[in-house]
Amino acid sequence: MKIQYSDQKKIFNVHTEQIPYLSVAMLDALGVPNLYSTRFRSFDNQSGEGETGLRVVVMKHEEEAEAAPVVFKNRDALARQLGSSIEHESVTDQKHTNHVYVVTEQDLGPILRSEKPLHRRCIDGLVTDLPDVLLTAFGGDCPPIYLADPKRGAIGLVHAGWRSTLGKIPAKAIERMAVQFGSDPRDLYAAIGPGICTDCYEMGDEVYEQFSEQWGSAAADAILRRYPGGKYHLDLRAANHMTLLETGMSEERIAVSNVCTMCNADIFYSYRAHRMENEQVAMIVNRFGA
Ligand SMILES: [Zn+2]
Repeated sequence: MKIQYSDQKKIFNVHTEQIPYLSVAMLDALGVPNLYSTRFRSFDNQSGEGETGLRVVVMKHEEEAEAAPVVFKNRDALARQLGSSIEHESVTDQKHTNHVYVVTEQDLGPILRSEKPLHRRCIDGLVTDLPDVLLTAFGGDCPPIYLADPKRGAIGLVHAGWRSTLGKIPAKAIERMAVQFGSDPRDLYAAIGPGICTDCYEMGDEVYEQFSEQWGSAAADAILRRYPGGKYHLDLRAANHMTLLETGMSEERIAVSNVCTMCNADIFYSYRAHRMENEQVAMIVNRFGA
């Protein structure tokens, strides 16, 4: 598993003992269990991709009840590598919104998408101060953003594709943590996880127009640039970094990914590279107060 990094910074630790995963070094140092999975390592013959076919999410074309057992088993195995289990898990819905939900005891444990109550079906961000809760998000180019507040014993996780990024989902999660748990942005740590890089992320002009309209043209020009081919390219990392800084977070507490899912399409599922629905899983566990 030879990952290409866009710079020399040591943002991630790589773990290959069991099911391989990356973890954010800054969060590891804080004692916050976290991971981002890869395509490896699966011998589940249903995926049809041998050992590169690890399945952690039920795909849209799949019969949910049929596919779920393998998916739950794989997620549980990953969670156990963080000292947790799927019984403590609450997941995001990947709807490209900026909706952030405060997880309760009733939300924990594996659940089929079709069995989720209505209020849990359009969530792209989760926050909690409940000890031992495992937050899970998915992504196959869209980066996850991990949040941790050691002072208030709270964590958060958001799925930040371009629409959620436009809706400033990391700031929505931080606002929610402030309201619910009394979190001060200056006490927070944040990590923008693996996702698509600027070079790989070609966008239509309408994306520039939307950012320009909602963020102002100076901000839009800072995160979107026309490439020689004539298309805009979006820097999702810089966009979310900007949003995190606007909340009052301190720059040295923000880790920014240097791993692109599309540049490393042999290691990660990439929607743009493969046009496939399969995705990676991002996980974070609340060990504060434990
Ligand atoms: Zn790339």
